[in-house]
Amino acid sequence: MKAFLKKILLKVFGYGKYIQIYSFIKYRKPKVLRLDIAATCNAQCPMCPREHMEKSRLVGKMPLDQIKKILIDGKKFGFQTLKVYITSEPTVHPDFNFIMKFSKQLGYINHVSTNASLIPRALEGLKYVDNLQISVEGWDKESYEKFRYPLNFDKVYNNLKILNQNIDKKNQNRYIHLPMTKNTDLRKFLKLWGEFVNFIKVDYMQPANLFSKGIMKSEYNPKIKDEYYNFTRKEKDFACFDPFAEIVVAYDGKIMLCCLDFNAKYNLGNINDGFEEILNNRFRKTMKKQFYNQKLSTCRDCSMFYVPSKEVLQNTYFLINQINKEKISDAKLLFRYIQ
Ligand code: SF4
Repeated sequence: MKAFLKKILLKVFGYGKYIQIYSFIKYRKPKVLRLDIAATCNAQCPMCPREHMEKSRLVGKMPLDQIKKILIDGKKFGFQTLKVYITSEPTVHPDFNFIMKFSKQLGYINHVSTNASLIPRALEGLKYVDNLQISVEGWDKESYEKFRYPLNFDKVYNNLKILNQNIDKKNQNRYIHLPMTKNTDLRKFLKLWGEFVNFIKVDYMQPANLFSKGIMKSEYNPKIKDEYYNFTRKEKDFACFDPFAEIVVAYDGKIMLCCLDFNAKYNLGNINDGFEEILNNRFRKTMKKQFYNQKLSTCRDCSMFYVPSKEVLQNTYFLINQINKEKISDAKLLFRYIQ
């Protein structure tokens, strides 16, 4: 029903007007606060935008006192959800456990994405997480260690067993977001990881976004170039609600455009400005107008707008339906690709 209504509204109003009306109703005030509590990651995944990040931004963490202040101010502002993942692995923060408990006590819905390499030391904090995304690619040791270099398959697999033993997956919205490549063996993937999650959200591995001369550019990693699906760039009908729905804060307090803005180079202000001022930032408003007018410059080459062919989409739907019928695991593969 929702999808049908959306189709009608898009037809009547067109994308720009639809985004304007929808965001006015739904996102007059963002409900999601994204906070990069750390800048450091212990993995070097070839598909990650970190490959293209400025070296100076690859290491660091936000001080605990600052995090506490942001969370308290954020609650007063009206945020409901806290997401602590953008450019890094959040469990590397030495105060991860405290931060999750503190945030839960303030009433946030906690959303974490982790590569699962540090689960034993993060267990206490993970008990306060409502939505837990596990980031693993690879359907066996070899493919896992290629995509999650230099993490160790056996260690991560064992960590996920520890997670299951300590936090029942039925009590948590626990899932994997899988960026699939041409070579991904979905059956083996589901068989390997299914027991640790409730579902697996399947998507396509996209080129990484990088900031270049004021705009977002999409870049394939040549080391895995042959593994990406072939995409074409959209020429119209651009929809992205990130600048409307979230305020995104880097580990050093800079405000980012969205979770793909790894270099935090836009003039979007600083967390010290306060949330109201951030919301009224001139560049943020310009960005929104670009979507209303459907005349994108900043985001024109975002990987979000790289789409696979209809044939690839149909084949993916078919394959996923087929695999789900085979009941390989109690977890299901989910595929809802929005073009
Ligand atoms: S279109 Fe891409 S770069 Fe622009 S705000 Fe959305 S996710 Fe970020």
